[in-house]
Amino acid sequence: MLEIKNLHVKLEEEDKQILKGVDLTIEPGSVHAIMGPNGSGKSTLSYVLSGKDGYEVTDGGASLDGADLIDMEPEERAALGLFLAFQYPVEIPGVGNMTFLRTAVNAQRKARGEEELSAADFLKEVRAKAKSLKIDADMLKRPVNVGFSGGEKKRNEILQMAMLEPKMCILDETDSGLDVDAMKLVAEGVNALRSEGRSFLVITHYQRLLDHIKPDVVHIMADGKIVKTGGPELALEVENNGYTDILTEVA
Ligand code: ADP
Ligand code: MG
Ligand code: MG
Repeated sequence: MLEIKNLHVKLEEEDKQILKGVDLTIEPGSVHAIMGPNGSGKSTLSYVLSGKDGYEVTDGGASLDGADLIDMEPEERAALGLFLAFQYPVEIPGVGNMTFLRTAVNAQRKARGEEELSAADFLKEVRAKAKSLKIDADMLKRPVNVGFSGGEKKRNEILQMAMLEPKMCILDETDSGLDVDAMKLVAEGVNALRSEGRSFLVITHYQRLLDHIKPDVVHIMADGKIVKTGGPELALEVENNGYTDILTEVA
């Protein structure tokens, strides 16, 4: 599904190399987690995959279902089924949440050569999915994320994900700033979306999210590279001993 090979990335503006050869293969239906100290390049990896400006791929590459991602526009990547939930969801004043969701869903359907959802079908679907994420009707009418609490923003991202039905979902520190109840709700939303054809890359600094979203594979990233890969037990090792032991071991 997602294949990252020897990915090297530097900042466009500065001569600073951030990713220094990332290799990662994510199979359909699996959940991979990336953990790592602050500044190791986790967010940069998710930004480069989603097509954010400001980064230059200097070597290697990434593909989704065999299609080269790097030269694609962000909306082409989305149409292919890539979804990124940001660490800090943006507020969009003046754009109603419902309008935003409907526009996004229909743009994606169009890009896939599918018919638009009728207003009635869209409403039915968005209401059912919002309800399961405990998002109330009022939040659907408000401008996107404006005045939402941290937990509401994250749940709203999961709602976007549920509506867009992506194949490859990347969640960048979606647990940051959430209390335990909000985190559980987000995790439940993700778990409900797990399926055979859909994969997840869950980026997190802490282990606690992985108590609720059980990963198949855990990677440790440090200084722009994946330095260790293992099963869920690797996350527990980080929880118990921090990163120092692992980093010393691989050094
Ligand atoms: P993580 O998500 O693992 O905490 P990041 O990908 O955010 O790490 O950052 C990796 C490194 O790249 C850090 O040293 C960070 O300061 C640097 N970096 C990332 N983006 C920029 C930028 N736009 N300008 C300057 N430095 C950046
Ligand atoms: Mg960070
Ligand atoms: Mg980050």
